[in-house]
Amino acid sequence: MKRTFLKTLVAAATVLALAPWAQAQDKGMVGISMPTKSSARWIDDGNNMVKVLKERGYKTDLQYADDDIPNQLAQIENMVTKGAKVLVIASIDGTTLSKALQNAADKGVKVIAYDRLIKGSKNVDYYATFDNFQVGVLQASSIVDALGLKSGKGPFNIELFGGSPDDNNAFFFYDGAMSVLKPYIDSGKLVVRSKQMGMDKVGTLRWDGAVAQARMDNLLSAFYGNAKVDAVLSPYDGLSIGILSSLKGVGYCTKQTPCPVVSGQDAEVQSVKSILRGEQYSTIFKDTRELAKVAANMVDAVVSGKAPEVNDTKTYNNGVKVVPSYLLKPVTVDKANWEPVLVGSGYYKAAQIK
Ligand code: BGC
Repeated sequence: MKRTFLKTLVAAATVLALAPWAQAQDKGMVGISMPTKSSARWIDDGNNMVKVLKERGYKTDLQYADDDIPNQLAQIENMVTKGAKVLVIASIDGTTLSKALQNAADKGVKVIAYDRLIKGSKNVDYYATFDNFQVGVLQASSIVDALGLKSGKGPFNIELFGGSPDDNNAFFFYDGAMSVLKPYIDSGKLVVRSKQMGMDKVGTLRWDGAVAQARMDNLLSAFYGNAKVDAVLSPYDGLSIGILSSLKGVGYCTKQTPCPVVSGQDAEVQSVKSILRGEQYSTIFKDTRELAKVAANMVDAVVSGKAPEVNDTKTYNNGVKVVPSYLLKPVTVDKANWEPVLVGSGYYKAAQIK
């Protein structure tokens, strides 16, 4: 009697112990291709994706491509060779993956564009991202509010920075921001002394902070000899840090000459610290935990032959098709709300910031 009970117990325990393993075997492997480790957000994205997918019984192959396009291509091809069922890809250059994706599609592999749209290919099944136009709207609105433009203050000098021209998001950020700034530029309340406007003039290849810093150096010496820059539209924290270094180099960010209002994106730790010091003015928080969940839901759906939940089927035309998308909401973070938004939500621990 006792023995039978024990046997049953052992058998039950074995089944339980095997269950997650069996599940993992069943659900298969997901390749996760991330652009670079040089920015904390992508490291969080990769880790969050692995965590969520593992919890749901998938195996994962997470690769970072060092912002090198051939590297990303090779990594994706390797994932397909290793038998990935689904690829989750945050592309470096959204236009360079068509051949690799055709090869994947030929083998029945599904593709989810992660955060950045993959362009020029019909083999992109779904897109998980944030409302990228809204990111730009929020960046610019934060500048407008800080300067008091709505209550008629001005004119103020502003310079504009864009993201990487090979990243579709960069255009959405810029267009969103300009939808807010343009009326003030047209009315003369905002003045772009350099006259450098448009993504062809203000783009920053590979989102490189050093490139932004060098451009800010040039702008300051060419156009601000005896004038002050009051605001800088920056689409990403890594650029904001470079821009602020340049400004500090010529005497801004002191009691007499405070920093201009500088925007950002991603709520990276060093930028949140900069905000607390009164240097960078704001950033945009995009909860990568939520993005990972949305992407994992898409993985689950395509693996079981179902249609994933999407909330936008119009906006993201990749040149070949409109990719059905799920857009999450970005949130502005500044000195006033960083604590509840970033610490209260558990995204950061207070000790990381202070
Ligand atoms: C992302 C941003 C990020 C930028 C630079 C964009 O595609 O959407 O969150 O700041 O890349 O990494």
